[in-house]
Amino acid sequence: AQAELESFRGEETLTADGMKVELFCNIGTPKDAKKAIECDGEGIGLFRSEFLFMDKSHLPSEDEQFEAYKEAIEIMNGKTVIIRTLDIGGDKEIPYLGLEKEDNPFLGYRAVRYCLANPEIYKTQLRGILRASAFGKAKIMVPLVTCVDEIRAVKALVEECKKELSSENIGFDEKIEVGCMVETAAASLIADMLAKEADFFSIGTNDLTQYTMSVDRGNAKVAYLYSAFQPAVLRSIKNIIEAGKAVGIPVGMCGEAAADPLMIPLLISFGLDEYSVNSVLVLTARSIISKWSKADADALAEQVLALSTEAEVVAALKAAAR
Ligand code: PEP
Ligand code: MG
Repeated sequence: AQAELESFRGEETLTADGMKVELFCNIGTPKDAKKAIECDGEGIGLFRSEFLFMDKSHLPSEDEQFEAYKEAIEIMNGKTVIIRTLDIGGDKEIPYLGLEKEDNPFLGYRAVRYCLANPEIYKTQLRGILRASAFGKAKIMVPLVTCVDEIRAVKALVEECKKELSSENIGFDEKIEVGCMVETAAASLIADMLAKEADFFSIGTNDLTQYTMSVDRGNAKVAYLYSAFQPAVLRSIKNIIEAGKAVGIPVGMCGEAAADPLMIPLLISFGLDEYSVNSVLVLTARSIISKWSKADADALAEQVLALSTEAEVVAALKAAAR
């Protein structure tokens, strides 16, 4: 099996009928980008920038952030690096920020909400990313978006940072893209509206499942409901991809589901453009993608979307697995 997987090394990621998709990696530190290259990743679909904030006892400076983003971008050597801006709160705590304890941290003051309420902190990060973007192909990705106002506000801050950098004669990629993570029920329901504002989408199924099923992703007692194969989550994923395609922006997925062999045929059918997975899963995902044609995936998706329970969905996908 390992030899079969190795035959996919250095190859493009193609469906059985020759449709090309992108196969990217999720990373947490700049050094992880080396692993992504070793594992034959075609880019970085999710650089979780939280590590920079969590591994320290103070807010990382603009220079510290710039160096970290630049390191990852240089390792990737021209390949895309999608940097997700600070996604704190929920299960990700940063003690020195001194945030109040909340009754419902997953529904609270976190991610883009925190960043927009603290524009100086956010602009420091955006400036760090912009400066690093001069060294390769970076993109900015915004976590936990729930309404159009948020993506507009982020874009306005990016524009402010660009103006500042220009007046300081500091280089950056003028055309840097700003994309939206679609990982809340709200974002999925207005995906058509968000698609007009964002340069790309990336579906975060870890949170999309949590927020669609109303199930804390870390709570073992309700874990039986936490499945991306729930009909509600599958419909949501399909809706998001269709909304992106309708206006011609690329749609990726950086939640764990993107590497799930049972999910992959559905994603091919829905038309996902970019899969971002744990580096060690790159060759496996490429192999699974190669086994499905669009027509076969469509037939399976049609069958599966008509099923009304998670157990039936999983059983049908297992029966069809290649
Ligand atoms: C997700 O929510 O699917 C995701 C990729 O981000 P995280 O797991 O870091 O919340
Ligand atoms: Mg998330």
